[in-house]
Parts: sequence; structure tokens; C-alpha cells
Amino acid sequence: MNSKFRVGILGATGVVGQRFIQLLEDHPQFEVTALAASDRSQGKTYRAACGWRLPGEMPERVKGIVVHSPAPPLDCDFVFSSLPGDVADEAEESFARAGYPVISNSSSHRMDADVPLLIPEVNPEHLALIESQRAARGYQSGYLVTNPNCSTIVIAMALAPLHRNFGVASCIATTMQAISGAGYPGVAALDITDNVLPFIGGEEEKIESEAIKILGRVNEGKIDNADVLVSAQCNRVNVVDGHLAAMRVKLAQTASLDQVREAFNSFTSLPQELKLHSAPAKPIIVRDEVDRPQPRLDRDAGNGMSITIGRIGPDNVLDYRFVALGHNTIRGAAGAAILNAELLVARGYLGT
Ligand code: NAP
Repeated sequence: MNSKFRVGILGATGVVGQRFIQLLEDHPQFEVTALAASDRSQGKTYRAACGWRLPGEMPERVKGIVVHSPAPPLDCDFVFSSLPGDVADEAEESFARAGYPVISNSSSHRMDADVPLLIPEVNPEHLALIESQRAARGYQSGYLVTNPNCSTIVIAMALAPLHRNFGVASCIATTMQAISGAGYPGVAALDITDNVLPFIGGEEEKIESEAIKILGRVNEGKIDNADVLVSAQCNRVNVVDGHLAAMRVKLAQTASLDQVREAFNSFTSLPQELKLHSAPAKPIIVRDEVDRPQPRLDRDAGNGMSITIGRIGPDNVLDYRFVALGHNTIRGAAGAAILNAELLVARGYLGT
């Protein structure tokens, strides 16, 4: 008997959708049974609709699945969404209303007061919002859970151990973001080759607002934002995968350099305790070489689910500085949503 959850993927043909399919190929709890994308793809088999752009072959079992429109009903128990933000807004709500849990990558509902913006290592207690969300919106078995923007995940995971141990008063982050973060076909080759683009629409605002929600506390069915000042500047660089953030932080309490390094190095949390399938053994890997982390060398650490931090040192303006790196389509997108789903199973929000 097949006891896996049946999964639908909205936006299945895109950069993130393809990562979902790759990461779910041999997943012990989830199997892909439904796929949805735009009217360009609808009615075609996945093999015909999707230009597969990841290394390795398109998994055999999805090739013959016919692509549907992103509207219920779909032949699945819950959906992962990697739809563009403007489409996701209504499509995700319609699935939640129809009784499907929606585990989303898209930005549309991240900042809704009653929607968890979840990183399982950082704020698993935010799942409590699901109850107030259902009550407020009249959802029965459905609900919305989101993961953060791909750069915010890297930044928030780096801040989490510092905030837990010493409090973070303020943070300045300058990102160098990979091309795949813009989806496919994304940025034109003539714009990004031999170049850096010092603008990514909406990205700085997302980092500044999402990070303080993630680090905030649940209070009577909503989140009180963390009292942390966050300033972000974002750049697109000529790297395929892997977002890097050069960060400076001011701490609320005094901490030595050794204490800061140890806070990163010893960081572990609920997904590791629960041994969730996609949880990396070490959510944060500290590198002491002077020239790490680097996207090409470090983005796949922990199967793409670990954040790598290096260049930790004192800062002349704020207290400490360091560089953090994460894989934007794995820890920053599909892998993040899959880990969210695994936590939802472990906490009884899926399958009961
Ligand atoms: P993408 O490569 O452009 O893929 C977009 C997907 O959405 C495709 O499957 C596309 O289907 C589908 N789609 C487009 N317009 C549609 C419509 N009107 N109706 C139904 N489906 C439609 O984008 P992506 O990079 O995968 O990003 C998807 C979402 O994830 C976005 O919200 C993005 O902000 C978010 N995200 C991306 C990353 C990243 O690193 N790339 C990280 C975190 C979050 P067709 O192939 O049929 O056009």
C-alpha cells in the first residue's frame, strides 16, 4: 500500500518547480501526483511542457503527468506553490479555501498577519498562526504557510543564533545574488555578463520586512516583530546559484568573537532534533579559511540546505561582520518549502 502524501506543484515548470521535482524524486514521505503551470503548458505532458534545466534527467515518473491550471481540484493531498507573486495571491487562497494545505514560496501571503513565514530552525512556534488563520478565514482543512524570500532565509538564519544568544539590535546586509534567483529566462546575458546589477526589484524591502517577522514572537494569534533594525542593499551578480550576503551586526549584549563564532557553530534546532528528512546535520557551517564562503564551493553544503558563514570578525562601525551564503533554489526555495512540509507532518498539521 502506498502511504506517501500525494503532492501537487503549482509553477512546476519553472526554476523552483524543477527543483521541487528533483528534490522530491526519492522523498520518503511525499510523491508528486499533480502539476500545474500557465496556459502555455496546460494540457501537455510535463515532458512536453517543461524545458528541463537541472543537471541529470527529468525524473521518469513525472514525465507523463499532464499539466493543469493552478486551480482546485487537483489530484493531491496538499500543494507546494512556486507561482509568480501576482498569480499566487488568488490561486493559493482558492486552494486553501478548497481544503488543501498550501506550502508556498511566493511572496503574496508572506506578510499576511495570520500566515506563518516559516524557517523550521528559527521560528517553528509560528505554526500556531494556522489556528487563528483558519478561524479568521473560515478555512476547514486548508491553510497557507510560506517560506521567506531566498536572500532573507540566508540572512535570517545567520541572525537567528546571534539573536537567540545575545539579541541583535541592528543589521546591515549587502547581498550578491545569483542569476537563477530571477527565474527562467531571467536576466538577459548581455545585462549580467561582465557586470553587476545594483537593483533587484522589491528585494530590499522584502529582506527588511520579512527578517523582523521571522525573528518575532507569537502573541495572541499574530506576530510581534523583533525589535531589530535591518538595512539591505541587493545586487545581482554573474553566478548561477548561491546567494551571498556580507553582513554587519550590532548586538544587544556584549559578546566576544569566540562566543559569536561558537553561537554560529553550535546552532541546532527542532528539525535536527526531529531528524526531519531534509534537515541538514548542521544548519550553519562555519569556515575559517580567509576566502570562504564562495558560491561555487559552498552552495551545496548539507545538500544545499546548510548556510555557510565565514570571514567572522570585529567591525569598526557595528560590533561584528561576516559573510553568509546559501543555495537560493534549495535552502532559499524548494528545499525550504519541503522542510516546512516535513515539520507540518511532524507537528500533525498534515495528514490528520
Ligand atoms: P519561473 O522560472 O519564471 O517559473 C514560473 C512558473 O510559474 C512556471 O511554472 C510558469 O509556467 C508558471 N506561471 C507563470 N505565469 C503563470 C500564470 N499566469 N498562471 C499559472 N502559472 C504561471 O520562476 P521561479 O524562479 O521558479 O519563481 C517562482 C516563484 O518562486 C516566484 O514567486 C519567485 O519569487 C519565488 N522564488 C524564487 C526563487 C528563486 O531562487 N528562483 C527563490 C525563492 C522564491 P509556464 O512554464 O507554463 O510559463
